[in-house]
Amino acid sequence: MNRFVKPLLISVALGLAPLSSAQAELDVARLKPMIEKSVEADYPKLDALYRDIHAHPEVAFQEVKTAAKLAAEMRALGFEVTEKIGKTGLVAIYRNGDGPTIMVRTELDALPMEEKTGLAYASHDKTVWNGQDTFVAHSCGHDIHMASWVGTAKTLLGLKDQWQGTLMFIAQPAEETVSGAKAMLADGLFTRFKKPDFGFALHDGAFAYGHISYRVGIGSSNSDSLEITFHGHGGHGARPERTVDPVMMAARFIVDVQSVISREKDPTEFGVVSIGAIHGGTAENIIPDDVLLRGTIRTFKPEVRAKMLAGIERTAKAAAAMSDAPAPDVRITEGAKAVINDPGVVETAATALKAAFGDKFRPSPPLTPSEDFSEFVNAGVPSMFFNIGVYEPERVAAARNGTGPELPSNHSPQFAPVPKPTIETGVEAMTLAVLSAFDQHARGN
Ligand SMILES: [Zn+2]
Ligand SMILES: [Zn+2]
Repeated sequence: MNRFVKPLLISVALGLAPLSSAQAELDVARLKPMIEKSVEADYPKLDALYRDIHAHPEVAFQEVKTAAKLAAEMRALGFEVTEKIGKTGLVAIYRNGDGPTIMVRTELDALPMEEKTGLAYASHDKTVWNGQDTFVAHSCGHDIHMASWVGTAKTLLGLKDQWQGTLMFIAQPAEETVSGAKAMLADGLFTRFKKPDFGFALHDGAFAYGHISYRVGIGSSNSDSLEITFHGHGGHGARPERTVDPVMMAARFIVDVQSVISREKDPTEFGVVSIGAIHGGTAENIIPDDVLLRGTIRTFKPEVRAKMLAGIERTAKAAAAMSDAPAPDVRITEGAKAVINDPGVVETAATALKAAFGDKFRPSPPLTPSEDFSEFVNAGVPSMFFNIGVYEPERVAAARNGTGPELPSNHSPQFAPVPKPTIETGVEAMTLAVLSAFDQHARGN
């Protein structure tokens, strides 16, 4: 018998599909004030951790100090911590009786860019990235995720008479380069440690704090990177008839490839191709031998992805053929796969989160950025990935109705979450999501 079998439940009006009679609900009305009290008491420490990590960010696979800070926090809580999983990642395990293993993931990495928020705790740190000196900033808010992750661990331990099972808290390197999740899996994340029964992760975004958005099914995009080299035959800019001009081919391709989106892809399906870099030539009067293009391809569905990849390659070959040039080198590197949220995990968590947050917990369309949390999902962990807002609701409303400035999004040098309400919401939502999964499992569903 399990304590969760005892009926200590309150029913709540949810606006969700009715639950079957075998299912019941987590006692959110009783748990929410306990969670809030715990977060409020822990907040000064979480705030100090957040500001420290924010001021000293580290880029992909360089997150040595960041990982050490989290390892120290988790060891102090009584977790068994293993470091250097997937180079700089860590795994923290806490066993609390029989029950499922639930994974909660945070990212560790920051971005190679300069922070321009002017905050007292802004980063001024620099590093070497791809052989170049660069500033480093937590402009994607992974520092918010780390503080929420530690706060969730602390809160769940304070409530450990409310659940049974194992917590598997993982801190993943290199999300921004969509390579850290793969690195952890390749390093035995689900073989050296038990493969979790459920997984959760959150990401912050430029909407109102206290608000949470979620999706069933597709949550983020497939991402592929594109690299094309057009090969021509260089020469004098005044004698183009003696050359085969790769700049011309590149220009043609950049324009024509958009017709794959507008004429070949189903217009009701999401698909984007953007060329972000062109490298070719040295002077105004020299036609170069080669031009290199780099771009990104984003899709939600595999069949749309396949169609776009084929169209992009055909367009590149055609652009070269028009100049009677050799075929270009087209390299497509698979990045992150779309995150697919498990309907069962989402329904259980959504019931609890809707009870706790009411209208501030809402479904939203899939997001077009990508996320390598999909690696864990595709490795067989039914999961839920949700988003939390970071800005004052009044500022968000003003931006929306045009009476205030637009708010900086993730990856903007001005991205500046309001820490306290954002982290508190992160901890409360994640704690309830994890408790809902333990509870559901304990009821034998
Ligand atoms: Zn990012
Ligand atoms: Zn991010």
